[in-house]
Amino acid sequence: QNAISIRNLRKTYANGHVALKGVDLDVKENDFFALLGPNGAGKSTIIGIISTLVNASDGSIKIFGKDAASHLHEAKQSLGVVPQEINFSQFEKVADIVMTQAGYYGLKGSLARERTEKYLKKLDLWDKRDNRSRMLSGGMKRRLMIARALVHEPRLLILDEPTAGVDIELRRSMWEFLQEINRNGTTIVLTTHYLEEAESLCRNIAIIDHGQIVENTSMRALLGKL
Ligand code: ADP
Ligand code: ADP
Repeated sequence: QNAISIRNLRKTYANGHVALKGVDLDVKENDFFALLGPNGAGKSTIIGIISTLVNASDGSIKIFGKDAASHLHEAKQSLGVVPQEINFSQFEKVADIVMTQAGYYGLKGSLARERTEKYLKKLDLWDKRDNRSRMLSGGMKRRLMIARALVHEPRLLILDEPTAGVDIELRRSMWEFLQEINRNGTTIVLTTHYLEEAESLCRNIAIIDHGQIVENTSMRALLGKL
């Protein structure tokens, strides 16, 4: 079955800019998938629509076979999103940021605390749990975004440029971490403009340019063409 199935997705922003011109895209369950393309191609717009932060102008999205618009709650529960911009409060404590997110997903009491501990430990942030997030380094903030996106153990994790501006060492450890959770059954979709990142991680890719999918193939087949 498909984790994501997008048909004829269109987006025209309020200022008249046409960001998506009819996108069709399928991502299989358990895939590690990259959405590649230059700046301005429409990658963040697609992610924004999947994560219901942006309204599509037309088209449909199914998440694990169910129409996302009519099964919004279920879609949100199966989805973890790591946006490109850091969007948590700089004054909140690290553990509270993850606990708050757990609350949004209906996790309560000891379960919320257990999950918060589990993912802060996995992302090597447990020692920082009582720090305010503004005290964290850039790399730690990235990892906090990932911990927060995983606290409800979504079947599908979407990351928008997860390693942009991250140093090579952290990039490699993030890659290993993502591969591990993918092996454990989480479908992963990431956007990147580093071909090397897609090459190291992904089985299948789509290339988007000017709001249209221009290539949709396996990483292996793409490399054969280059
Ligand atoms: P929507 O049509 O989805 O409601 P809007 O066009 O209202 O989106 O824009 C949402 C926000 O993004 C606005 O604050 C707008 O100023 C800002 N914005 C406008 N143009 C751009 C752009 N080219 N890139 C990123 N953000 C933009
Ligand atoms: P990418 O993530 O591939 O860099 P985006 O999805 O952010 O691309 O943007 C696609 C196009 O839509 C760009 O030309 C961008 O300037 C424009 N855009 C993005 N957000 C808005 C907005 N809120 N209002 C108007 N235009 C936008």
